[in-house]
This record gives sequence, structure tokens and C-alpha cells, in this order.
Amino acid sequence: MTIPALTAQGLSKAYGSKSAVIEASLTLRAGEITCLLGPSGCGKSTLLRLIAGLETPDAGLVAAGERRLSGPEGVVPPEARGVGLVFQDYALFPHMTAEQNVAFGLRTLPSGLRKARAREMLEAVQLGGRGGAWPNALSGGEQQRVALARALARRPEILLLDEPFSGLDAHLKGEVRLWLTDALRAAGAAVLIVTHDAREALLMADELVLMHAGRIIQSGAPRACYLDPASPEAARLLGEVNLIDGVIASGQARTPFGDIPAPGLADGPAVVMVRPEGLRLSDQGASATVAQVRFGGGYHEVQVQAGQQRVHMHLSGNAPAEGQAVSLTIDPELAKVFPGLRVT
Ligand code: ADP
Ligand code: MG
Repeated sequence: MTIPALTAQGLSKAYGSKSAVIEASLTLRAGEITCLLGPSGCGKSTLLRLIAGLETPDAGLVAAGERRLSGPEGVVPPEARGVGLVFQDYALFPHMTAEQNVAFGLRTLPSGLRKARAREMLEAVQLGGRGGAWPNALSGGEQQRVALARALARRPEILLLDEPFSGLDAHLKGEVRLWLTDALRAAGAAVLIVTHDAREALLMADELVLMHAGRIIQSGAPRACYLDPASPEAARLLGEVNLIDGVIASGQARTPFGDIPAPGLADGPAVVMVRPEGLRLSDQGASATVAQVRFGGGYHEVQVQAGQQRVHMHLSGNAPAEGQAVSLTIDPELAKVFPGLRVT
């Protein structure tokens, strides 16, 4: 394995008595997109600011390759790090054209080269013809592309983006996201994208880092995190889940909605996490009653009740009727057993 482009180790930061980031570690690799996913207020932006050098950590280290960038003793300032930053509200300078905005970061180059490089970057973000436009004449998506061109123009080895799509309309997001992923991979930088949107993170990330209440609770490939979450919190961060109270007995986890294997786990109570698409109607399964059916576009969202517990499932094709008796099985690939009682 190559040395990571950036390593953050044991980073902590408190504001007064409030811990914003607690012992957070992550690595970024050249040519890879890492997505930091967590709910609002969990400490994502603080962690990004610590990595960028905009904040001094109370404890922990940041290093780029072998070069130490931050520790409690001080920080190398952002502009001396070869780190590019793009923020949601990282507004363009309104009194400069798109091209001047991009050229702004290249002040150390001779002016001829600077112009050429700014044009090249605008072309790379497919705004080749818009260099003379003022920011207020550009759409939100175009402005964000100019901000990205400005960050990429300096050829940073590390690029940090904080919620880069949250200012964009829903219909623009998908388009800008596709384009951005390609552009970032082509640039070969080590990229960290902060987001609170699970779908966005799953679609873009090579590596996913999940954050909850100031701590990193899991990292890994998107599919691995989705199918094998480290905890019910990690499972919840990545999308809708059912958390079902069950019991482990003789290597099987039993729930009112079906049983799944729980090899090697001691007998006792358990929380069984099942994704909505992991519940199936079957001829021979656990008996339950359909409580509610809603049309969700490509699928039906169906609420099913058994005893005191209710789950929701996603069914494509024909949906059962409300009040109908059904039988269910759980796909063990889309479920996970957590021994112990439910915490929340
Ligand atoms: P996120 O980006 O995940 O929404 P933040 O990193 O912005 O979360 O914030 C994490 C916590 O730290 C929040 O409780 C926030 O109020 C607090 N916080 C962030 N920045 C500051 C600051 N400069 N001063 C005081 N509290 C802060
Ligand atoms: Mg934030």
C-alpha cells in the first residue's frame, strides 16, 4: 500500500466544554474520493477545518505524506499546505469575472501563464465560453463549478469540499455530482467530500467515513458499510433501516418477521437491523398483517405489523392490500444481528 496522501490521527477539538470532534482518525489517498457522512452538528465541518489547518487541534496530528501539518503545538496555514478548499458558501468574488476568479489563486504565476491556466480550468469544468461572465449571471451549478475550477487550478494534492452540493437545486445536484466525480478522479488529488446525504455519499465515495456525535464510528467501502454496519447508528446513517427486537437462540436470531442465522453469537436478546428491501413476501414465513401501503414511485412502501412491532418494506411490482395477512422472510444479506438490548 502506498503512503496515504493525508493522515489525521486522534484529532480532538472542543469549544468551551462542548466536544465537537473526539479522537477522529482518517486517511485520504491520491486519486480516491473519501466521503465524510454524518448528521448535521456531528462535527464534520470542524474535522474538515482541523484537516485544512483553519483550526488548531486540542490533541492529535495531521500529516501529508511524511510532512507534519498540525498538532497541538501549531499548524501550517492552509495556503502553505497544497490543500484546496471548496465550501458550500465559498462565494465567488462578485466583482471579478469567472476567469478572474479562477486566476485569483494563481497570483504567483506570470500573467500570461495565469490566463492560460485559468482558461484551461474553465474548459475542464465545461465553462470554456463563460470566462467573461460575472458570477451573478451564472447559475448556482455554474458558480460551484467555477469555485471548483478555482480550487483545482492550483493543482492541489489534497482537496477538501464541505457540502459542495447543498446550495444546488435537486435537479442540478445529480448532474454536477456526476461531473464532479469524474473531474476529481481525473485530477488525481486525494479528495474529502463532507455531506449529510447518504445517497450522495454512497454514489460518490471510494471510501466512506461515518461520523456520529463527534466520533468516527466506521470507515470502509460504501457497500461494506451498507451491508455490514458496525452498529445500529452506522446502519441508520446510511439509509432507512428497521431495528427489530429479537432473541438469539442456538445460533439463530428470531424475530416476529422471520429468523436469520447468527452463527457464533451467544444466546440472549438482540437488535436485528433489516434494510427495507431486505424483507420479502414469501409463501412460508412469519405471519404479519399489512398496516399501510404507500406508492413511492419505483416501489411501494409497505408497513407491516407483527405483535407489537412494525417494520417497513419496499416492494416493487404489485403491493398487497391494507389489512391483508402476509408471510415474510428476511434476506440475511441485507440484515445484521447486534447482540444486546436496544439502546434508544
Ligand atoms: P457539522 O458540520 O457536522 O454540521 P460542525 O462541525 O459545524 O458540525 O459542529 C459541531 C459542533 O461544534 C456543533 O455543536 C457546533 O455548534 C459546534 N461548533 C462548531 N464550530 C464552533 C465554533 N466556532 N464555536 C463554538 N461551537 C462550534
Ligand atoms: Mg458542516
